[in-house]
Amino acid sequence: MTSTKKLVSYIFPIYNESGNIELLYKTIIKLLNTNNDYTYELIFINDGSKDDSLSKLREITNNDKRSTIIDFARNYGHQIAVTAGLDYSNGDAVIIMDSDMQDPPAVSFNLIKKWEEGYEVVYAQRRSRKDTFFKKFTADMFYRTLQKLSDIDIPRNTGDFRLIDRVVVEEIKKFKEHDRFLRGMISFIGFKQIAVQFDRDERHAGKTGYPLKKMIKFAADGITGFSNAPLKLIRQVGLFIAALSFLGALYALVVKVAFPAYAVEGWAFIVMSVLFTGGIQLIMLSVLGSYIGRIYTEVKDRPLYGVRSIYEQN
Ligand code: UDP
Ligand code: MG
Repeated sequence: MTSTKKLVSYIFPIYNESGNIELLYKTIIKLLNTNNDYTYELIFINDGSKDDSLSKLREITNNDKRSTIIDFARNYGHQIAVTAGLDYSNGDAVIIMDSDMQDPPAVSFNLIKKWEEGYEVVYAQRRSRKDTFFKKFTADMFYRTLQKLSDIDIPRNTGDFRLIDRVVVEEIKKFKEHDRFLRGMISFIGFKQIAVQFDRDERHAGKTGYPLKKMIKFAADGITGFSNAPLKLIRQVGLFIAALSFLGALYALVVKVAFPAYAVEGWAFIVMSVLFTGGIQLIMLSVLGSYIGRIYTEVKDRPLYGVRSIYEQN
C-alpha cells in the first residue's frame, strides 16, 4: 500500500550550518515519524559551505534512503540553492525551509494540512519574529517599497518558508531568470494561495548567511525583477530637474534684462547646478546600468549552478 501514499519533499539550503544540521535532522526525523500518512524525501543543498557542513550532512544522512545531498561547486546563493532543490525534488508537495531552525519544522505539518484542503501554495507568515531591530526594519522597508513599486502582490512578513504543489513546482521550473526572487515568482504565478501564521524563532547556531551586501542584492533583484518603476523614476526626476533649470534660466534672464545692476555674477550658482545635475545623471545612469547588467546576465544565459556531486543512498 505504501506506493499510494503521497510524497512530500523537504528542501534545505545549507550554507555554513554546521552547528544546526544535527538538531535540524533529528527534529525533522522525529516529526516525520509521527505521521505515516505520507512518504518523505529530504533534499539538502550544500551551497558551497566553508565549514564542515558537507561531512556533517554525509555522516548524519548515511543509510537514510530518504535523504539526498546536492553538493554545489561553490556558493551560488540561497535562491539558487532552493531552485536546485525544486529541480531535484519528486514530491507531490514540496516544502522549502531554512536550515537554521528559524522556521520551526513542526509548522510544516500545518502547511500540509492546508494543502490537503486544496491550496496549491501555502506560505508560512510570521506572526512574530526574533531578529535584530536592523533586520526587522530593513525587511519592513523592503516589503513596503516592493508593494508600492511592483505589479505583483507579495504577502508581507513571509520568507521562502512555504509548501508548493507539484503543479506549481513544474511551472516555477519554467522560470529561467538568473537573478532570482523566488517568492516574487511564486506570487506572480497565481494558483490558490493561502497563509498559515507562525512564530519565527531565533537562529539556533552560527551566523546569518545574509550579510548586508547579499541583502541589498536580494532587494534589488526583487524590485528590478518585478517592477520597472525605477526606470519611470528617472523620467520623473529628469522632468523635475528640467523644470527647475528652466525656472533658473528664466530667473537669470529676467534679472539680466530688467535689473542689470543685480545681475548674477555667481559662478557659485553655476558650479552648484552643474554638480547637482551631474550627480543626478550619475544616479540615473546607475539605475539604467543595473537593468542593463541584468539584461546582460540573462542574455549570457549561463547555467544557474554547477553540481560537484550528488549523494543518495540507493
Ligand atoms: N543560505 C544559502 N546560501 C547562502 C546564504 C544562506 O543556502 O548564500 C541558506 C542558509 O543556510 C539558511 C537559509 O539560506 O538555510 C537562510 O539564510 P540565513 O538564515 O543565513 O538568512 P536570515 O535568516 O539571516 O535572513
Ligand atoms: Mg536565518
